[in-house]
Amino acid sequence: MVRTEDAFFDSVIVGAGTAGLACGIELLKRKKSFAIFEARPRIGGRILTRQSKVSQLPVELGPEFIHGYPSEIMSLTDSSKLPFYDVTDLHYTFQKKKPVHLVKEYWDILQNILEKIPRNPEKDQTVKSFLNNHKINSWAKSHFTSFVEGFHSANLNLMGTQGLLSTEEVTEDDKNGSELFRWKNGYGEFLSEFVTSAGKSFLSHLRFDSVLKKIDWSQKQIKLQFHNQKTSRWIKVICRKLILTVPIGVLKAPARAVAGIEWLPYPPPSLTKSLEFVHMGHVEKLNFTFKNRFWEDLTEKQSAFFHTTPDHYFPTWWTQMPMRSPHLVAWQGGPKAEEMKSWKTEAKITAALKTLALLSRKTKTSLVKEIIDCETHNWSSDPFALGAYSYVGVDGSGIAKNLTKVLEGRIIIAGEGSVTGSGRGTVHGALASGLRAAKQALTLN
Ligand SMILES: Cc1cc2nc3c(=O)[nH]c(=O)nc-3n(C[C@H](O)[C@H](O)[C@H](O)COP(=O)(O)OP(=O)(O)OC[C@H]3O[C@@H](n4cnc5c(N)ncnc54)[C@H](O)[C@@H]3O)c2cc1C
Repeated sequence: MVRTEDAFFDSVIVGAGTAGLACGIELLKRKKSFAIFEARPRIGGRILTRQSKVSQLPVELGPEFIHGYPSEIMSLTDSSKLPFYDVTDLHYTFQKKKPVHLVKEYWDILQNILEKIPRNPEKDQTVKSFLNNHKINSWAKSHFTSFVEGFHSANLNLMGTQGLLSTEEVTEDDKNGSELFRWKNGYGEFLSEFVTSAGKSFLSHLRFDSVLKKIDWSQKQIKLQFHNQKTSRWIKVICRKLILTVPIGVLKAPARAVAGIEWLPYPPPSLTKSLEFVHMGHVEKLNFTFKNRFWEDLTEKQSAFFHTTPDHYFPTWWTQMPMRSPHLVAWQGGPKAEEMKSWKTEAKITAALKTLALLSRKTKTSLVKEIIDCETHNWSSDPFALGAYSYVGVDGSGIAKNLTKVLEGRIIIAGEGSVTGSGRGTVHGALASGLRAAKQALTLN
């Protein structure tokens, strides 16, 4: 074991989000010496569930859906019996002069366009240039644009077609790949169940309010410096293996940023190279609670998702169907979400209500009177996230894979941003990356 200044551990994990927790739980099972240092005073990172003040339902400020049937999450569900339910997969569209109507072929339209993308990693291009250079009718194009900006939180001028294809791939593991589920009591309950399953001793490995500011690495050992947010004291730690699970936005941030990290003597070159090709996407999610479920009058069948064209702010809305509840979510991803990161919440609500007025055929004034509550979290200006989730830029799908390899013999990157394939930008992808990182740490001396 290596001697230390303030503390030493065989492994240090930075970040107590899904990836960091998954990695720590695995190391605990193997009785390894480790600690998890987390900047916030809580676990979960981008998982942030609140209880509605009005209904008994969870309000998800971060992730809400389980995408497909990922084994990493479902195995936990089966052992803990955490209740979850199918999300109603009905998509409606609305525009200025056209009433709300069902789009039966919602997924087929997207799939048809995806199939037109040449599968050629040697000749990648931005999603924007692909759309500009292919004959696709304008309605399908705008539908697809909304999907890439919304679902992938991406800027079409930056996202590469090959990176998009790799996240859209359905692997054998993704049984029921396109299906969506929701936890009955939210991701918060999933998280606490996950941590509880590790046993009480796990909590003693967690160090909160500790912001990593400096990594001084050599072939022999790694020296770390954390700044404690509460006491303002510096903590020095030495370890043999470092598992970094901080978001891509933080890894790309300058050292002077709140969570920015200074690397000595320099950041691993392969990390710097990979980060050039991975971008942090932006999302705005407004969780409204209304007095009445007026959207149920707009459609004959259960209303689940509503979409309009991407020139509107908040072009996507969803209900909690099949659960009837007073909650309606407004969703904006991509460049418009990035633009909004400096807006006040009131301005975002005003922009969202303009679109909702179009959807509901109600006036903005009458909608304002309907609002009971609106909860949101600004992930783009949150210093420990600096965005929502990641996507891969042009020519990046190969290089981004380097993030899954051990760097300089003892540095391991985990978290959603290090995931290749369909788990990128998801909770289950983050969880799988934490398990992968633990496996790698266990094989290193
Ligand atoms: C609005 C929104 C909606 C989403 N919807 C979905 C969804 O429906 N389904 C889905 O599967 N996924 C969704 N996601 C994505 C999902 O939330 C993430 O992929 C996942 O939670 C990431 O986990 P992680 O462990 O990689 O990162 P995080 O959860 O961000 O954990 C990283 C941790 O590192 C800490 N940290 C940062 N900097 C430092 C530092 N310098 N020192 C110490 N600690 C630091 C952070 O505080 C954080 O706790 C959504 C995300 C957002 C923002």
